[in-house]
Amino acid sequence: MQIARNRLEELERYLSTPQRIVILSHTNPDGDALGSSLAWAEILEKRGHKVTCILPNKYPYYLDFMPGCESVVIYKSDNKGRASEAVKSASLIFCLDFHTMSRLDGLSDLIDENQQTKRILIDHHLDPSEDFDLMLSYPQASSTCYLVALIIEQLYGVENISSSMAENIFVGMMTDTGNFAFSSVTPDVFRMVSILAATGISIPDIHNNVYNSFTEGRARLFGYVINRKMKIFHNGSVAHMSLTADELRRFWFQQGDSEGFVNYPLTIKKMKLSAMFTEHTDFIRVSLRSRADIDVNIFAQRYFNGGGHKNAAGGKSFMTMEETLKHFEKSIKEYAAEGRL
Ligand code: 5GP
Ligand code: MN
Repeated sequence: MQIARNRLEELERYLSTPQRIVILSHTNPDGDALGSSLAWAEILEKRGHKVTCILPNKYPYYLDFMPGCESVVIYKSDNKGRASEAVKSASLIFCLDFHTMSRLDGLSDLIDENQQTKRILIDHHLDPSEDFDLMLSYPQASSTCYLVALIIEQLYGVENISSSMAENIFVGMMTDTGNFAFSSVTPDVFRMVSILAATGISIPDIHNNVYNSFTEGRARLFGYVINRKMKIFHNGSVAHMSLTADELRRFWFQQGDSEGFVNYPLTIKKMKLSAMFTEHTDFIRVSLRSRADIDVNIFAQRYFNGGGHKNAAGGKSFMTMEETLKHFEKSIKEYAAEGRL
């Protein structure tokens, strides 16, 4: 894959003199959000820019090992002044791994107050909004980390990818592709992995850090939700699972503990679509996954105020859990009646 030459030239113009840069990524940051932010921050700092990474809320505990993550400003828990100062004095804002400002939750108000600052998007979600001055939007790319690697390659050359940048980029490429298993994976993704591996990173260590570093509570919560809460319907082709705030407390829930659960029902042969509902303080978080040609991006947009990718999307519900599950089942019927399932 190649990043369009004219876009790169425009990007180069923005970066031709030292800038004060803010890098933003989405609420409930995952490996791709954090990895792309950290790698992009490192190369920009090396090129002489001043960079602050800001996230709307904290990344999950098992991403704590990612190089440079301790310097990220967490808008929700750090003093908001630090984020506000960085945004106000920024000459350039990069938006990584999200496609609409609403994915920033409360942090979007702060960005709205600084309309005059140029915004550059680097992202792989479908249907980006019009909020950006320069868009490097590539929905066919398997991760934003892969895009960041391509941009670095085309602007500065791969010899400028350090091992810490490679580690961060690899995390996002690995997690957003289900370990290089999704249909978004191309031969060029493996070419890039080979470049990253050559920097000396330990792929087994990264894998262990991401996938084998959970709490006991998460393992028990997983057993509980699959055994007791998974409902299969629509001739065995749709599954939903839900966790209330009370159930989460019983398993000493920490943010990130339920990440990935939604994929599990799709290990069942006939399964086409899986949904996970997790209760938060003000809303229910909706996670959707689907197989092949079933489109959960449209489903999430239409029924759950959300979006994402064709086979992985999310959204929110502001109803009770019971009403949300009813709404889901009804929506599935409607979707199926249109021949979309
Ligand atoms: P996850 O289920 O892992 O939270 O999210 C899957 C995909 O859906 C991600 O690419 C994510 O960016 C997108 N997504 C999750 N929640 C929302 C949401 O509330 N709104 C939108 N537009 N996209 C979401
Ligand atoms: Mn991503």
